[in-house]
Amino acid sequence: MLDTLIKNAVIIPMTERGLVIKGSIGIANGRIACIGPDEPEARETIDARGHIVMPGLVNAHAHTAMCVMRGYADDYNLKTWLYDKVFPVEARLDERAIVAGVRLGIAEMLASGTTSFSDMYFCQPAAAREIERIGIKANLCNAVLALSDNYVFEKDRAVIETSELIEKYGSKGAVRADVAIHAEYTSPPAIWLRVRDQAKEHGLITHIHLSETKAEHEEAKGRHGMTAAAAFEKYGVLDGPVLFAHGVWLEEDDMRIIASHHASVAHCPVSNLKLGSGMADVRAMREAGINVCLGTDGACSNNSLDLFEEIKISALLAKGLTLDPTALPAYDALEMATVNGAIAQGRSDETGRLKAGYDADLIMINTDAAHLRPVYDPISTVVYSARGSDVELTMVRGRTLYRDGKWLTLDIGKTVKAVEEYAVPIVKNE
Ligand SMILES: [Zn+2]
Repeated sequence: MLDTLIKNAVIIPMTERGLVIKGSIGIANGRIACIGPDEPEARETIDARGHIVMPGLVNAHAHTAMCVMRGYADDYNLKTWLYDKVFPVEARLDERAIVAGVRLGIAEMLASGTTSFSDMYFCQPAAAREIERIGIKANLCNAVLALSDNYVFEKDRAVIETSELIEKYGSKGAVRADVAIHAEYTSPPAIWLRVRDQAKEHGLITHIHLSETKAEHEEAKGRHGMTAAAAFEKYGVLDGPVLFAHGVWLEEDDMRIIASHHASVAHCPVSNLKLGSGMADVRAMREAGINVCLGTDGACSNNSLDLFEEIKISALLAKGLTLDPTALPAYDALEMATVNGAIAQGRSDETGRLKAGYDADLIMINTDAAHLRPVYDPISTVVYSARGSDVELTMVRGRTLYRDGKWLTLDIGKTVKAVEEYAVPIVKNE
């Protein structure tokens, strides 16, 4: 017998362009057992009349713990924001504050339909324990930053934490390890080689910030005589799977390099707009053959982790930049937030689609709202009209983690209290 049957649903499975199915989804042992018109017996039945059911969203670039800095440093450019505002706070944040921020970020992600995220930050082993307990999926990394002359790779906290994650979680499972180079401008090629070897040895994805601002992109050329993407290729960083974040200032050759190595780019339009970094040319990246997915970046440069905003804004930006409304159609924008994110995370055989055999990572959107009626095309409704707050149910591996405004594996009161009473005074240096 099935564990759960979701019936009377309008289903967007993301298995075929434009496909919408009216029917039910059967779930057994955390996986999707069947999708179609039949209503087999189940221990639990969820009536999804008036709801759209679709894959959970994948946030491919986040710094979840930065939720403790939401609204702390607005209206600065990346350099001032990072060096004068963020780095000094990060030097003060301890594990307790970071875990509080992670919990708050996960609460927000679950309430707005994200079921898996790729995260770059500190204290990841502690965050991982919390993530496992809550039940959301995550690819976790702590990026190397080698800014001082006496930097020792083996003594870098990021490297030590990464080894811990690799040992405990490896490259499979709901929680898994990635490796990371923070960016071209925060470490020399000798360090990239060490990270490359670590990725190769354990079969891990390498997560990297790339060509986020124009100045950064130009300075890389001064340092290496080539772009950052070309330099990463030269030192073999692209030999394994790579997830780049941003790619705002990529040149044609960069796109060719990234596509030829089957690397992904997490487009983070809200963060890029807010920091005044620019607008990535998503159509050009897609035409070059790059797997483009979506990320929120951290809540200190966004200031939300609601991927529905990224979906709509990415579609609008692509149209506005190219003066072509067909530059990124609704289905493609939704694909970036689901299927492509799963590819970038190395999870394309388990999430991002509603399909028999896949994990039951799904969300239900209640369309009984003034701003969602009428529904001519459910894909258009989700991309152009829905908000994260329209998500009524979020399920990961068949387990309901959020429903009707309540978190079932997370105490929201305690979470907010820990952020406001413990983490905020550290951020404000009180
Ligand atoms: Zn970032």
